[in-house]
Amino acid sequence: MFETAGRMESLPFSEIRVMMERATQMQKQGVDVIHMEIGRPDFDTPAIIKEAAYESLKKGNVFYTSNYGTPELRRAIAEKLRRDNGIDYSPEEILVTIGVGEGTYAAVAAFLSAGDEVLVPDPVWLNYIHVPEFFGAVPVSYSLKEENNYQMDADEIESLITDKTKMLVINTPSNPTGGVQSRETLEKIARLVEKHNLIVVSDEIYEKLTYGGVKHVSFASLPGMKERTITLNGFSKCYSMTGWRLGYAAAPVACIKAMVRVHQYINTCASSFVQEAGITALEKGESAVQEMVAEYERRRDYAVDAINAIDGLSCKKPDGAFYIFVNVRSLGMTSAEAANYFLEEAHIATVPGSAFGPQGEGFIRISYACSYERIVEGMERLKKAVEKRQASR
Ligand code: PMP
Repeated sequence: MFETAGRMESLPFSEIRVMMERATQMQKQGVDVIHMEIGRPDFDTPAIIKEAAYESLKKGNVFYTSNYGTPELRRAIAEKLRRDNGIDYSPEEILVTIGVGEGTYAAVAAFLSAGDEVLVPDPVWLNYIHVPEFFGAVPVSYSLKEENNYQMDADEIESLITDKTKMLVINTPSNPTGGVQSRETLEKIARLVEKHNLIVVSDEIYEKLTYGGVKHVSFASLPGMKERTITLNGFSKCYSMTGWRLGYAAAPVACIKAMVRVHQYINTCASSFVQEAGITALEKGESAVQEMVAEYERRRDYAVDAINAIDGLSCKKPDGAFYIFVNVRSLGMTSAEAANYFLEEAHIATVPGSAFGPQGEGFIRISYACSYERIVEGMERLKKAVEKRQASR
């Protein structure tokens, strides 16, 4: 009866969800599971943002808005991009989306035809593989390697470019590696992009989550790049608003006009009162964001030291996001085996690196978007589990 369309073959269930469900199942049976698999902040949304949404509802702000988003929010986003990112966008160059998830979908749907190639990181947030495939486009992976501190390698990327390559996806700070692309790396990429006339999708959803003085660089802020770039960003991670579903795309007007045609047939517009709260987030949310960033940094520093002190595990100190990509190669297990072992043996849920692409094999992703106390407990359990494993070999 419900035989799915052929294109559904490129849409598997996410392995991250599979892990979350297994962990939740164990928890229901009374097991004390530490959730380090989840890619969402553990903080409540800052109170002033919630207040702004209540006030908006009370005022009766309950109707459709423009497909593009409200003029007020688009102005606030343009202002934010000028202030934080040094890019001069006009409100007409902004489309308010239902999170970066929708921004990704609209960018791919609007610009990739069947057979077009899109360069994507490996490891990567899997939407960048499955959404292009859904439209018959071909993701071609470039590697982010631990030994290069997860920097993009312009030579490797150039070697992958063919006459079918139309788009390049950049994600900095990165899920799942926590790596942040340096200005120098991005400048090399900019030269490539110009030479090969590519569209760039720059996913900057973790932009404010950087540590140790490392600064996020927006690709569109580099000379000549604004004209070729679709900057995707949103409120989920930095403002702890994953459930609000709010994001935006910033790009030249012709690009936004193409993307809004996709958006209008799926979502019409983002929620009216959520958009109004988004203005408060951008204009008054910075100190709350900085408090969360300071806490993430404290957790990161603890967890990275604890992991590197365990004989058998190692990791780079990630400069951004809230993930640590832990090298588990010396345990003599695959990523999936290691993640399963830690769940069964230590009741710690993580995600096998292989879930993010072949380059992730040999790693597990640990999220430190859970409380400091749980991280301390988690690292103790991890140590014991690794010791047990090493003793049994
Ligand atoms: N981009 C990246 C790199 C992500 O990791 C995520 C969430 N895991 C998203 C986009 C999705 O963000 P949103 O909630 O805005 O759809």
